[in-house]
Amino acid sequence: MKLFAIFGDPVSHSHSPLMHNCVFKKLNYKACYTRVHLLDGSKLKKTFFSLGLSGANVTVPHKEEAYKACDEVRGFAKNIGVVNTLINENGRLIGYNTDADGFMYAIKDFGKVNNVLILGAGGTAKALASRFMQDNIKVSVLNRSQGRLSYFKEIGCNTSDWESYSTKKYDLVVNTTSAGLKDEELPAPKEIIVDALENTSFVADAIYGKVTPFLRLAQEKNITFKDGADMLLGQGVLANELFVNKELKLEDIKTNMLRSFEI
Ligand code: NDP
Repeated sequence: MKLFAIFGDPVSHSHSPLMHNCVFKKLNYKACYTRVHLLDGSKLKKTFFSLGLSGANVTVPHKEEAYKACDEVRGFAKNIGVVNTLINENGRLIGYNTDADGFMYAIKDFGKVNNVLILGAGGTAKALASRFMQDNIKVSVLNRSQGRLSYFKEIGCNTSDWESYSTKKYDLVVNTTSAGLKDEELPAPKEIIVDALENTSFVADAIYGKVTPFLRLAQEKNITFKDGADMLLGQGVLANELFVNKELKLEDIKTNMLRSFEI
């Protein structure tokens, strides 16, 4: 029996155990997936191996720490220094990022987007910004503090903090901050959020399982929006494919993972 887990702080809200266990159970794959509340990200690697894990997901706030913990990082994660999926490959820790492609899957319904405003400048923002740039989508990033904006400037995004924000038109505004996850906060002062919402066609939030204050405002303004559930599904399907080393078909993983959203 293989053991998988999700590391995070907080982690009790995570839907990942249900998603992956649904796939393992329905497809008779001998594995089990649990959650680990990890306060200190620097203990990630030690904890991973002491639990005898075959693989793991990493959520807020440890994704950048997860990158540093890896013996090898593969694919898109190398561009951004952010890892959300870990695989134990013969005692070596291999890191991947499935968040960005998961998000691209989620926003397919919105059609072609050319101009995106990302709220927040953490690991998820990096993954999305870098992935959008790959598709020649114009990216602006707004964060409450300056410190984390330098990465985005370097890759060619427009950047601003709350002080320097100015009105522009967007196709999509996406919240990647954790404002609204455990609290009822907006990702930026209300006047900025209202202005951004009045200048966009679509809205998305990376947070799932609740209508955040940000999505509530979008709803009030009749803007088409989605929470992070489809992103969660997208990243989960891709992570599961890595966990089972492609022994299961992607389509079967998706069908069975989707069932976990009905529970
Ligand atoms: P990080 O900790 O890397 O980044 C958090 C960002 O949010 C930072 O830019 C931080 O700003 C900002 N922030 C935090 N609190 C506030 C606040 N109260 N007001 C304004 N800005 C704030 O987090 P991640 O990128 O890993 O995750 C962000 C969110 O995305 C989480 O809620 C996570 O659950 C969700 N997520 C969902 C996924 C899904 O599948 N649906 C996948 C990945 C993430 P500062 O730099 O100033 O500190």
